[in-house]
Amino acid sequence: MIYFDNAATTKPSEAVLSLFQRYSESFFANSSSRHALGREANKCLEEARNSILSDFRLTKTHKLVFLSGATEANNLAIKGICEQYKNRGKKIITSAVEHPSVLNVFRRMEQNGFEVVYLPVNEEGKVEPCVLEEAMDKNTILVSIMGINNETGTINDIHSLANIVHRFPKAFFHVDITQAIGKISLPYEEIDLFSFSGHKIHGLKGTGALLFRKNITLSPQNIGGDQEFGFRSGTVDMAGSCCLAQAVHLAKNNRQKNLETVQILSSYLREALKENKEIVINSPSDATPYILNFSFLHKKASVITEALSHEGIYVSSVSACHSKGEPVSYVLLAMGLGKERASNSMRISLSSMNELEEAKIFIAKLNDIIERTIDR
Ligand code: PMP
Repeated sequence: MIYFDNAATTKPSEAVLSLFQRYSESFFANSSSRHALGREANKCLEEARNSILSDFRLTKTHKLVFLSGATEANNLAIKGICEQYKNRGKKIITSAVEHPSVLNVFRRMEQNGFEVVYLPVNEEGKVEPCVLEEAMDKNTILVSIMGINNETGTINDIHSLANIVHRFPKAFFHVDITQAIGKISLPYEEIDLFSFSGHKIHGLKGTGALLFRKNITLSPQNIGGDQEFGFRSGTVDMAGSCCLAQAVHLAKNNRQKNLETVQILSSYLREALKENKEIVINSPSDATPYILNFSFLHKKASVITEALSHEGIYVSSVSACHSKGEPVSYVLLAMGLGKERASNSMRISLSSMNELEEAKIFIAKLNDIIERTIDR
């Protein structure tokens, strides 16, 4: 098996899996229970919270709410700010290439009476700071822009974007760092709220968090027993949260080493793909090496993905999150690459668990499949 779909999800690490078993067995009590076992579970939970805050170097300025993943974190950040601060202004800004868990929440806010701006991106998929600057005004209460795009690996200049947002005192800056965590360094202290999932960094599915400045109040989206400071009611997944802390810690400590491993594979793949006349690369040259997106000029991407899958090679054609809907990439369309390219793209996404030998097998199989696949 060759698994090149790590932007969709990663394999949980051994360290995470064994920690989950240990914590689930030893500290299974409800972390809200007042007895000694409950207090022990709560202690583990608070240690996990502090560990993540300290890995981000944000113990003094930010707080953390454990959630089920980036989708929930994006929902809480956007709806939570809009509902809480709606009297300050009605304008909210995002980009045209955000993940559906941001874009569709903005669409909902638009139905609820907010004025929404969907910023265009340039041909590399980046939000240009001057474009954000032009859209900002004193009624803007929220800007949400992703760190790294999940389809193309495009990296946004978060520092410059944050600088612009902070010139407007009523506006909060939210960043979806789901594909960026463990991959690039970001100026976290300049970001008001950020979201991520554990399963993209060899943690567990159903785990994630939202970090936000201590002075921010969010209108809670889950109302109940007031867990997680009242921002997200419901019994906390203590073992999952500890696994999240472990995954974040490993991702942070191994960032450089992992990057070096993935860079070698990515450079090999990019060069080899460029040699095939049927392929055109969509990811900009300065994208994260973890994600490589390209289109087929004459073949159908879905047919090739399926043929690779038959060979035990797993890649993605159009982001897994919306592959059941319209198979045209709105991200590639927004980059101005045209409908043909946007309907026939493939995404390879790597992890440090991949090896160069796998990349070589992949290229050989892909070239072979392209040759025997009829034109669309
Ligand atoms: N944001 C981005 C950029 C993503 O890539 C994903 C996962 N594809 C999400 C948010 C949502 O993550 P989850 O499905 O874990 O909630």
